[in-house]
Amino acid sequence: MYTGGPLDRAGERRRDAAWIAERLDHPATRIVPVWRDRNLVEPGDAPQAGWLTGAAAAAALEQASSQVFLGLWDEIAYLAVDLSHHEEDGLPSLVNGAEFADLRQVGRLLAADDATILAYARGMLHWHRRQKFCSDCGSPTEARDGGHVQVCTNEACARHHFPRTDPAVIMLVTHVGDDGVDRCLLGWSTRWDTPMYSTLAGFVEPGESLEEAVAREVFEESGIRCSEVTYRGSQPWPFPASLMLGFRAKGLNADITVDPHEIREAKWFSRAELAEFGEFYGETDPTRPRLPRTDSISRRLINDWIEEGD
Ligand SMILES: [Zn+2]
Repeated sequence: MYTGGPLDRAGERRRDAAWIAERLDHPATRIVPVWRDRNLVEPGDAPQAGWLTGAAAAAALEQASSQVFLGLWDEIAYLAVDLSHHEEDGLPSLVNGAEFADLRQVGRLLAADDATILAYARGMLHWHRRQKFCSDCGSPTEARDGGHVQVCTNEACARHHFPRTDPAVIMLVTHVGDDGVDRCLLGWSTRWDTPMYSTLAGFVEPGESLEEAVAREVFEESGIRCSEVTYRGSQPWPFPASLMLGFRAKGLNADITVDPHEIREAKWFSRAELAEFGEFYGETDPTRPRLPRTDSISRRLINDWIEEGD
């Protein structure tokens, strides 16, 4: 989820300010509004992404504090606009009855292509709101290249600032016990009150390879040493600015010692035990362990392993 979307980012063309200006004026252009990290959604049982076109798009563009060219889909331009400076009661007239919602709540209900575009818009505008000033000299910055670079307006500095994406590793550690049963290591984070068991994860530190980050995080959080770290795929996670890099690793020991600041409990689970787990959404028994949300790479890593079978 949030990856493999349909947009051509048109990296060459977005540097052309005249071309961007034409896209802004084009009646087919779709505006993707964001308000304080929330995306516009048409509510209902099957919610849909809330694009604006025509007069509503023009009004939103005029009211926006910043805008980002996202890309082209069938030659139609998609532009993210930030309306965060508006008070909530001023929004309905701008958005035709659609609502601003947290993508982490509604993302799994949207068409995958649409969710990918909304995540991208949210991530870019989050960065825009935090890159108004140059971190070298403190002068205001100015957006260029369709909003994909912020340039320091102090000519003596003129530093270019690019969007941030913070790499985080997320890994499923497995271990075959003395009983011959293959199990995976999942942790219940201190951030969750209900027993949601997820793969371990953490940010990559400077001067560290991804494989080293996997081994360090697993050991810090669970006391498990691991080897055979293999890459499984990645997922943008712009909540607010992460790129999740998914791995599989083999545990070398079975005795767990958790870091109590981060992990409430970590355990080895067999496939049979995971089959008894509840779902992230809709589980009514607060004591029943549940699996991670279906739109997460954590869940994909777990599901891939379950499908391999014993
Ligand atoms: Zn500067």
